[in-house]
Amino acid sequence: MTDHGRRRLLGLAGAGVAGAAIGATTAGAAVAATADGGDDAAAQEAREATWTTDRPLGVRRVWWSVPTSAPLLSLTFDDGPDPLFTPRILDALRDADARATFFMMGAMLERHPDLGRRVVDEGHEVGNHTWSHENLAFQDEPGIREQLERCHEVLTGTLGVTPTWFRPPRGALPGAALRIAAELGYDTAIWSVSRTLSEVGTPQRITEQLAEGLEPGAIVDLHDSIGRGNFMLPFSGLRDELAAKREVEVVGLPDVLAAAARSGLRSVTLSELVRSSQA
Ligand SMILES: [Zn+2]
Repeated sequence: MTDHGRRRLLGLAGAGVAGAAIGATTAGAAVAATADGGDDAAAQEAREATWTTDRPLGVRRVWWSVPTSAPLLSLTFDDGPDPLFTPRILDALRDADARATFFMMGAMLERHPDLGRRVVDEGHEVGNHTWSHENLAFQDEPGIREQLERCHEVLTGTLGVTPTWFRPPRGALPGAALRIAAELGYDTAIWSVSRTLSEVGTPQRITEQLAEGLEPGAIVDLHDSIGRGNFMLPFSGLRDELAAKREVEVVGLPDVLAAAARSGLRSVTLSELVRSSQA
């Protein structure tokens, strides 16, 4: 292999491997620097080699909703898997014969692999929601790469699936994240319906608000954990507020599913929803 090729491979593959081992945000560059004798210039060159790619990435798409006339929509759940919420969501989906897409955090799947396997075993799809829910708008390129690649590795390694969907935390999608997602083979899913109530609310209010947006092709953003809150101290105010909001969403979920059914709509995985589309 040429020197350029070797260095490039280190740059592309190193972030995930080294990130898993030492958790450094600039892990890819650190590996390349070590391999090149610790030279700063070589590390910089290796880092820059990850900013462009000679791989033809083709077409990857960003979906906010799916143009379809089929009576289908997609419920999506972010931030899990989490024993506090995910099992009850799975039960509600099973009772309604509904399928969904779970955008998992790598760090949460590493903590709860059996729960992740239950999601797949029950016919749902999984997607990449980064390793630890950093706001990608404030990450440098190696940091973004580590967030996506570490999650990708734990999804494939733990669940034996090849995920094809990426959802950035908060929907914040800098160009580097879009391109790295494309390198990993992902389309990106944002959403057309989400909780807009800022306060915790009640299950009834959340259900009514969400039900207004249910229509063919809708992508509905819900949660089965608390994102960054998982790394906050217990009993911190924000963590408790996030958990209270999730609880309301989980309790209201059977009613959201019932509202969809009354409108003749069924929840399917994102990939199935896209297959129903002419887009
Ligand atoms: Zn999230």
